[in-house]
Amino acid sequence: ANSSLPSTKEEKSVRRKPPAPKRQETPPSSDPESWEQRSSSSDPDDEDEDDENTDVTKILGKLPKGIDLQSARQILNDIVVRGDEVHWEDIAGLDGAKKALKEAVVYPFLRPDLFSGLREPARGMLLFGPPGTGKTMLARAVATESKSTFFSVSASSLTSKWHGESEKLVRALFGLAKVLAPSIIFVDEIDSLLSTRSSSSEHEASRRSKTEFLIQWSDLQRAAAGREVSAREKKMGDASRVLVLAATNMPWDIDEAARRRFVRRQYIPLPEHHVREQQLRRLLSHQHHQLSDADIQTLVENTEGFSGSDITALAKDAAMGPLRNLGEALLHTPMDQIRAIEVGDFEASLTSIRPSVSSTGLRQYEEWAREFGERG
Ligand code: ADP
Repeated sequence: ANSSLPSTKEEKSVRRKPPAPKRQETPPSSDPESWEQRSSSSDPDDEDEDDENTDVTKILGKLPKGIDLQSARQILNDIVVRGDEVHWEDIAGLDGAKKALKEAVVYPFLRPDLFSGLREPARGMLLFGPPGTGKTMLARAVATESKSTFFSVSASSLTSKWHGESEKLVRALFGLAKVLAPSIIFVDEIDSLLSTRSSSSEHEASRRSKTEFLIQWSDLQRAAAGREVSAREKKMGDASRVLVLAATNMPWDIDEAARRRFVRRQYIPLPEHHVREQQLRRLLSHQHHQLSDADIQTLVENTEGFSGSDITALAKDAAMGPLRNLGEALLHTPMDQIRAIEVGDFEASLTSIRPSVSSTGLRQYEEWAREFGERG
């Protein structure tokens, strides 16, 4: 977690086992295609895989009847993120957002007994702001810190061109989230799932997944509020510890009805001066560099308007500086003869790495935040 270059959302490891089921045993799935029926091989990972398969079978066995097992497997494979954890301290700044997320999600998940009645936590929270400001990192930190299963969803992962498959995927997603509760369903770019744009027939599949998503989410809210929940429904999982956390760079594209469901809407702004400094220092902390405090201050001034991911990109590019002049010699130069990263490397990189949000774009976020959001 302390690595100098924070990992991107693409880098996810799926080696770890799915979390062990916490509820009472139910008979394993009788699905003939179960994973555990694969023939054995001499792969040293086999034992791990066997454990994994047993867990998967147990999880699938707890799903209510109407849920398609193939879709559930797909969700477990592609959507449940394991390993490569993000912690609060990996995220520079955003103290207000961290505090809001702790209060709205982490504490209620860890102490459900304290958070009922008036303290009933919200079932949905929206993180909005310019791209690359740490929304995904925050969601992943929430999952780590609240010891939750993390379902990382995008609109495209819930849209299948096969008739009826989109709804099945969405139902499997919510079904699994309840079985594996506490769970965070994180929807990146929620605007494309819940957009106001009228969908033509070719977007039939996305319209279907949107409708099913809203139905399932309502059921969750209803179940969590403790109303109209049958004993059978209760046995299927813990709906009170499932939260939909969504992120968007285009909050104005979410239709009004969907927007209102996000009781909490948290603005994730561009990093301020001291946050850029904190991030730059952290990125340089394990590197061989020669930047003085004054150099860092100059860099902080020169990165006004940069997002967290722009700053990461800048530092990565500058870190390549000492290698760039070596040419082929790179292949045999010993490590200790590679020169340190200098402020000049950053200056050179600043000519090509520019802020990805324009000042006009930024004003649009500020306005939306004033009208609909919480700051911090
Ligand atoms: P978003 O979801 O807001 O588009 P991400 O959370 O995916 O942005 O951030 C993209 C990358 O940018 C991260 O992997 C990290 O390298 C860097 N980054 C962005 N914001 C921060 C931050 N506040 N602290 C540290 N790194 C950040």
